[in-house]
Amino acid sequence: MFKRILIANRSEIAVRVIRACRELGIETVAVYSDADRESRHVAMADRAVCIGPGPAKLSYLDQEAVLTAAEITQSDAIHPGYGFLSENADFAEACAKRGIVFIGPPPEASRKLGFKSAGKAVARAAGVPVVPGTKSDITSDVSKEVADIGYPVLIKASAGGGGKGMRIVREPGELKAQLEYASTEAKAAFGDGSVFIEKLLERPRHVEIQIAADKHGNVVAFPERDCTVQRRHQKLVEESPSPALTPQIRRDMQDAAIRLAKAAGYQNVGTVEFLYQDGKFYFIEVNARLQVEHPVTEAVAGVDLMELMIRVAAGEKLPFGQERASEIRCHAIEHRINAEDPDNHFMPCPGRIERLELPGGAGVRVDTHAYEGYTIPSYYDSMIAKLIISAGDRPAALRRSLRALGELKIEGVKTTASMHARVVAHPVFMGGDFDTHFIEKTGLLDEQRKETRK
Ligand code: ADP
Repeated sequence: MFKRILIANRSEIAVRVIRACRELGIETVAVYSDADRESRHVAMADRAVCIGPGPAKLSYLDQEAVLTAAEITQSDAIHPGYGFLSENADFAEACAKRGIVFIGPPPEASRKLGFKSAGKAVARAAGVPVVPGTKSDITSDVSKEVADIGYPVLIKASAGGGGKGMRIVREPGELKAQLEYASTEAKAAFGDGSVFIEKLLERPRHVEIQIAADKHGNVVAFPERDCTVQRRHQKLVEESPSPALTPQIRRDMQDAAIRLAKAAGYQNVGTVEFLYQDGKFYFIEVNARLQVEHPVTEAVAGVDLMELMIRVAAGEKLPFGQERASEIRCHAIEHRINAEDPDNHFMPCPGRIERLELPGGAGVRVDTHAYEGYTIPSYYDSMIAKLIISAGDRPAALRRSLRALGELKIEGVKTTASMHARVVAHPVFMGGDFDTHFIEKTGLLDEQRKETRK
């Protein structure tokens, strides 16, 4: 097992890694930017190293700074968290060159899956259903191919993420111009202009499978997470099990995820994302890291995914097989609480948290780096806390969510907490039958704006 792990991240996920390390008896090294001096992960870690100024490019994304910090602190492994360097195969390789273990998938596996279009090719070869689309990065005239796929279609950036770089095309006449826009956008956002086209599913649910794989060829798949409640392709609420799946579809999705992981030589934890519509599921991409919503699976399956990823990175075998991994022990929901103004187009609201009261009690877990008096810097993403609720069944979990959201008090910055309460109390959400357009179709945010103005 590792003696000392450096955490190349910040916020709640850095806190999450530190907690797991402490339970495993592993020392921790935090890195931080000038803007994060007062951050909780810095105070919690055994040691902390400043690696640069506020902008992520000059600190959390500076590979050389992170690697040097690992060397001077004699850390034997680096945990990348999510975002930043977590899916950067070059960084994973650079770690290996310096004799430091990267806690994540091997670079070859993330290269095979990291690009959306490459991931789809692996899926196809492994017999996993994919959304119909153009084969790879578009370089020539694809108008005939797209006509065969059938409009409407979605243009996606191969290097895309976070819902960025996507464009809907409804008519053949719009195709050429939209392809150009999308490619320019992708180049600006990801430094890579390659795009591909997929059939636009009109009423999909987003359902994903968490997998874990050790270095000895064993792969398991956990119960699904349903992340259908989104705004602009960004997840807001995640739950498990999905109110839409049958046990047979769940098993088929798990089998597909395991096949894909094996085909790519995947190791460590990861997520295989699918769209689900009319009883069928289609692979969209792999997230080659631990995701924001991993605690939902921890609650449902009764596992510690953070501990698991550290153990398999250290060479240990998975401690259980598929039968244990598939167990569903409760119903779980996660609410991402962002410092954003839901009444004003979700504008980020950095600033000082004047008052903070966190919910508690049975079935309520809060993962956060925030505290009273903490100033949220403006450089990074706006998520300040995750509320993870678990209960015996979905209705009980929804009631508990409302109770916990009611106990949560944050003053000084605007947050999305009130929006979560509206989602949970909405009859359509309660009924469980909805798609990724739930927020727009229900007019939930317009209603909220009206009410706030009154
Ligand atoms: P990103 O990596 O940017 O998050 P994804 O490929 O994971 O992009 O897709 C994010 C979301 O976009 C999905 O959860 C879904 O809501 C929507 N989406 C993606 N592909 C399609 C599609 N082919 N048809 C309809 N919606 C899609």
